[in-house]
Amino acid sequence: MEPRVTVNFFHEIALKGDNRPMFSRQVAANIRHAIDGTGAHMLNARPMTAALTYPGNDKWPVLKERLEHLPGVERFARAYPVLAALDAMQAGIRELLTIAPKARSFRITASRSDKNFPLTSPDLNAKLGDFVKTETGLAVSLLAPDLNIRVHIEHGTAYLSLEDWPGIRGMPVGVSGHVVALLSGGIDSPVAAYQMMLRGCRVTFVHFHSFPLVEGTSREKAEDLVNVLTRYQFRSRLHMVSLADIQKRILLDAPPEYRVVLYRRFMLRIAEEIARREHALALITGESLGQVASQTLENMQAISLVMQRLPILRPLIAYEKEDIVRHARKLGTYDISIQPDQDCCSLFVPNHPVTRAVPEDVTKMEEPLDVSTMVQAAVDAADLRRFTWPPVPGRATALDH
Ligand code: ATP
Ligand code: MG
Repeated sequence: MEPRVTVNFFHEIALKGDNRPMFSRQVAANIRHAIDGTGAHMLNARPMTAALTYPGNDKWPVLKERLEHLPGVERFARAYPVLAALDAMQAGIRELLTIAPKARSFRITASRSDKNFPLTSPDLNAKLGDFVKTETGLAVSLLAPDLNIRVHIEHGTAYLSLEDWPGIRGMPVGVSGHVVALLSGGIDSPVAAYQMMLRGCRVTFVHFHSFPLVEGTSREKAEDLVNVLTRYQFRSRLHMVSLADIQKRILLDAPPEYRVVLYRRFMLRIAEEIARREHALALITGESLGQVASQTLENMQAISLVMQRLPILRPLIAYEKEDIVRHARKLGTYDISIQPDQDCCSLFVPNHPVTRAVPEDVTKMEEPLDVSTMVQAAVDAADLRRFTWPPVPGRATALDH
């Protein structure tokens, strides 16, 4: 028997009614992209599943790794297809048991997407269970079997498998539109961007730095972070924006305790202008309520008032730090984020910044500034970097200048 890989799509996709074909097509297209270069090939894509062939077991680890990181995949299995007829399934299971690990107990887990098949799933569980018991003498254990023999019936074929793996679930990237994420070098914003990808968004990144006022190490961190995140959406754009000139003006004119609020207002204006040019539909930040002084509701209000059209989405607003750290570790961004750097928001910021900024006061402080010219100048001077994934052989990173 030649193994296939069967992929089950994220369960929420089944609920999409008339839109389901669009979601299913996007998962299938993303699988095709993800398996590029592995030698695997898509045999068919159905509303909630896809089947792949692959060239041999030495390619399996790469293929498995790719499917484990693809938004839209609920689970996948290495499965052996046989004719959906009882005797063919029994012969297939007999063969499968010859390559199964040593076991004392088993269960059958049958499912059907082909409701024309004459036996129901419980019938199949009972009939194939009896067969395996007689054939091997193994005990049945429904709750904690050593071997879980899965049988999935679809379009006249029964797929037999011993093992399956969870995917990262979520919506396929591309179904929910385009957003712009403000990516610092910190722990939170990469996690926030990832959460949006799992809701089907394509994410473009904006990173603000204060080079040449301080050394530019945060820029490399931002690149490394985008490099990691690109594997979930295959290609990314990162806008590097210098806030140095704007910060110089703020340092001259505004009271020190208001500096962070003013820096943030400019960041949002610049990011919204980039989003407008990129046709993006929302801004994303890694803010979490009350985590630091700039993240009180009062300050968020004073900062968000500069937005003209787009909503700001804050996927981590109610997360506790420990949960964010756990996500960041799993995602592989944590070790990059904890590298020391000089964040542009810490530039000349006093120990006690304002925690309840008054919007009218902030507006007054900005009166002497030519805000729109400053914003346009920063956007025009931004540096765009492009990233792609899967990596091209022979190149260490996904950075693709
Ligand atoms: P993070 O861990 O993402 O840096 P944080 O807990 O340090 O977040 P802040 O420094 O207050 O919180 O930043 C809040 C949000 O503002 C960040 O999550 C990010 O979305 C945005 N932000 C802050 N600094 C920058 C920057 N230099 N470039 C781009 N976005 C930034
Ligand atoms: Mg930060």
